Amino acid sequence: MNKKQLILHLAYLYPKSMNIYGDRGNLITLIKRYQWRNINLIIDEIEVGDNFNPTKYDFVFAGGGQDIHQLRIAEDLQNKKTAIIESVNRGTVFLLICGTYQLFGHYFITSTNNKIAGIGVLDITTIASKIKTGKTKRMIGNITTEIVIPNFKSEITTLVGFENHSGMTFINKDSSTTYPLGRVIKGFGNNGHDKTEGACYKNVFGTYLHGSLLPKNPHFTDFLIKKALENKYKSSIKLVDLNDILEYKAHQFILNHR
Ligand code: GLN
Repeated sequence: MNKKQLILHLAYLYPKSMNIYGDRGNLITLIKRYQWRNINLIIDEIEVGDNFNPTKYDFVFAGGGQDIHQLRIAEDLQNKKTAIIESVNRGTVFLLICGTYQLFGHYFITSTNNKIAGIGVLDITTIASKIKTGKTKRMIGNITTEIVIPNFKSEITTLVGFENHSGMTFINKDSSTTYPLGRVIKGFGNNGHDKTEGACYKNVFGTYLHGSLLPKNPHFTDFLIKKALENKYKSSIKLVDLNDILEYKAHQFILNHR
């Protein structure tokens, strides 16, 4: 299967509004890892008002943003909702960080008690800590989790990264669709209480881990890369191994400091 030139289309959603704490590092990592394997990655940047073609993309990436940035994109996300759901149902891989992750849930209640409607792809809700507990709690710092996605096959199962949010996210307890991405070993995760981090449904992966996520976790990056290729080509793909010594040193550094 890997003989012919593989091509992947990636949509980068809202790069102008949703891009903080080095989120672009995730995209750079994807670009490099596809390039090093001679896989052609074509990227479209999609902003507010642009059309989202549900059949075009194999991978969708979107970063985080503060409440004000989320407000900027919230209405546009509603306009794209039907197309995004079609894309999700086609098995497109979505990697959504922090602010966009929250808006793929049912709603986000901000610290000023403004309820922003999400698109409900993920069975989650988010409430600013100030509203939920009466006190603003910034969940910030390096984080380590254990990946709990069923069928995640890798010798390394830890995820390391950096989180910075005050929104507390809860996966619906009775959810039949949505499950956590990780179990918190050190850090806050979704809400600082229930030890869950991130949320997944089909090939949609939401997380609070920002720009160092993919650079420091090659095993997870390749899991996403492979998923996107296999979903597009409907056959099993063997990825060429890369030299990840430096990347795993960075991973280990965070593990050692937990
Ligand atoms: N505004 C959201 C919060 O603080 C998201 C922040 C972010 O994307 N880092 O919860």
